[in-house]
Amino acid sequence: SSGSSTPLEDNINVVVRVRPLSEKEVKASDDSIVQFPGNGQILCEGQNDSQKPKLFTYNVVFEPGATQEDIVQYCGIKRLIEMAIEGFSSTVFCYGQTGSGKTHTLTGPPQLFVGKKPDLNHKDHGLIFRSFFYLFQLLQQRQENTQFILKASFLEIYNEKVIDLLNPGAARKKPLAVRWSKKMRGFYVENLFLVDCEELDDLLAVLEEGMRNRAVGSHLMNDHSSRSHTILTVHITSEQQAENEKSVFISKQGKINFVDLAGSEMTKKTQSEGKTLEEANNINKSLMVLGYCIASLADSKKRSGHIPYRDSQLTKLLADSLAGNGVTLMIACISPAKSNQCETINTLRYAARAKKI
Ligand code: ADP
Ligand code: MG
Repeated sequence: SSGSSTPLEDNINVVVRVRPLSEKEVKASDDSIVQFPGNGQILCEGQNDSQKPKLFTYNVVFEPGATQEDIVQYCGIKRLIEMAIEGFSSTVFCYGQTGSGKTHTLTGPPQLFVGKKPDLNHKDHGLIFRSFFYLFQLLQQRQENTQFILKASFLEIYNEKVIDLLNPGAARKKPLAVRWSKKMRGFYVENLFLVDCEELDDLLAVLEEGMRNRAVGSHLMNDHSSRSHTILTVHITSEQQAENEKSVFISKQGKINFVDLAGSEMTKKTQSEGKTLEEANNINKSLMVLGYCIASLADSKKRSGHIPYRDSQLTKLLADSLAGNGVTLMIACISPAKSNQCETINTLRYAARAKKI
C-alpha cells in the first residue's frame, strides 16, 4: 500500500483497493492499465492513444498485493471502531463494479463461513471479521470501568425493499418499512431483528447467518447479490460510572455500518432489458443519491445545506452516520484489467468526487 499513514483526518475518507488480475484475465492477456506512483496516487491509462493517462489521489491506495490484514491495518477502520465505542456513528462502504472485490474485501469468500465453523486464522477473512476481533480486544481493555451492550442487525435493500437477512422468511413476504422517528430524529427499520451479542462468537454468527441467507437469495435469482445493497450494523451502548460520582452513569450510543453496495455498472448493462429497468433505475438512483450526499458532505460549503437523504432507502438508513460527527470511509474497489477500463474510470471518478473539499 502507499499513501499517508494517518488516513482519517477528514469526515469523509476514500481509499482504493485494486484486486489482482484474475486467472482468466491473465490467460486472455487482459493486461493491467493502472500504475502506482505512491502518495495515495493511482495512474490510469487513457482510453485511446490520444487520451493522456489520468492521475487520481486518495487517502490510501492498496495495490493488488495487499492482503486482507493490510486492509484492516491501514484503511482507517480501526479509528471508526474506536469512535463507535466512544458513541459516534460511522459507516464503511465498498463501491465498485461487480467482480471488483467488494464482497471479498468486506467478508471474504462466503465458503469460509457458510455451513461450517470458520478457521479463525484463515488469510481470506475480510474487514468485517477482522473488525469484530479488534472491537472485542478494545472492549476487553475497557471493561473494568465501563459496561458495554452490543446488538447487531443485518439487512438487504433490493429494489428499494428492505429485507431482514436475520429473519428472511418473514421479510420476503412483506418488506420492512423504513420510518422516521421524531424522538430519535432519524430513520429506522420497523421490526428489524436486533441480535444481542455478548461474545465475539455471537457477532460472527450474525455475519454467518446473514451471508447464508444472502446466498439463498442469490440462488433464487440470478445475479441477485450484484443488484442489492447489504448493511450490517453493530450498535454499541456503553455505561460508564462517573469518576467522582458513583451514582452517575454516563451513557453513550455509537454504531458502525458495514455496507456492501450493488454493482455500480448495473444501469448501463441492464438498460436495454426492459424487465430489469426498474431495478436498474433503483440501483442507479440509490448509488447516485449516495454519491451526491457524500460529495455534498465533503464540500464544506454544501455541508450545511439541504442533503437529499430521503431520496433513497440506502441514504435514509445511512443518514445519521453520514451527517453526524462520525466518519465515513469509502473503499472503492477496482479491477486492473484493460477490459474493465470504462467502469474503472467511472469508479475512480465517483471516489474522487467523494474526496473533493
Ligand atoms: P464483488 O463483490 O465486487 O462483485 P467479489 O468480491 O465477489 O466482487 O470478487 C470477484 C472475484 O474476485 C471473487 O472470486 C474474489 O474471490 C476475487 N477477488 C476479489 N478481490 C480479490 C483479492 N484482493 N484477492 C484475491 N481475489 C480477489
Ligand atoms: Mg459482491
